Amino acid sequence: MMAHLADDLLAIYGALRGAFGHQHWWPAETAFEAMIGAILAQNVSWKNAAKAVRNLEDAGMLDPELLAAADTAEIARLIVPSRFYNQKAERVREFARVYVAEFGADPVAMAAAETGALRRRLLSIKGLGKETVDSILLYACSKPIFVVDAYTRRIFSRYGLLPAGASYDLMQRFFMENLAPDVELFNDYHAQIVFLGNNICKKSPLCARCPIQEVHESLWCAEGMGAKDWNSGGD
Ligand code: SF4
Repeated sequence: MMAHLADDLLAIYGALRGAFGHQHWWPAETAFEAMIGAILAQNVSWKNAAKAVRNLEDAGMLDPELLAAADTAEIARLIVPSRFYNQKAERVREFARVYVAEFGADPVAMAAAETGALRRRLLSIKGLGKETVDSILLYACSKPIFVVDAYTRRIFSRYGLLPAGASYDLMQRFFMENLAPDVELFNDYHAQIVFLGNNICKKSPLCARCPIQEVHESLWCAEGMGAKDWNSGGD
């Protein structure tokens, strides 16, 4: 762990949390809902995924045993808002089958599994990638796994802390090697990154509103270059 990087990462988190407040992720009432939400959120906005989760709930189908036994066409019909609904229906059913058969549909049993083995098992389910699996591990199983995504790459490469083409694994190592394993911190840090990427550090960034700029003189954002000067003129 490099002390100055750890300090910078904690300072960035502090600035984001100070500006945006705690994000209270994952927006789900049960661990199983968070698991299904993570699958349905692949490649769509959370708003769309949330509609699909609500449809499952309204139909009484947000239940591991029912999903494991369901027809994929029946699941697909309910999760249309999440797009790619045929593929996602298969993923949801396969995940539910594993959850029921290997963990007794018990989130505590799943969370008790050794993290590396559990990650490998979930990654072996067709269609579940690293971001989805890590979201399940962190947000549903409270494992200290840092979730990264395209927003992470964009923001931290603009600060020169990650290369522009950084892989998922490299980004994840960067956070996990420089921060102590802390579920609460990892939970809200990823949520803050998503909020910043969604609302401020967009493709065309709104640098004048970026809380990270105020963190430290040594943190210099290539995209936000000079923003401090024009910030002083007000937003
Ligand atoms: S200063 Fe601008 S480009 Fe840099 S992280 Fe903030 S919003 Fe993104």
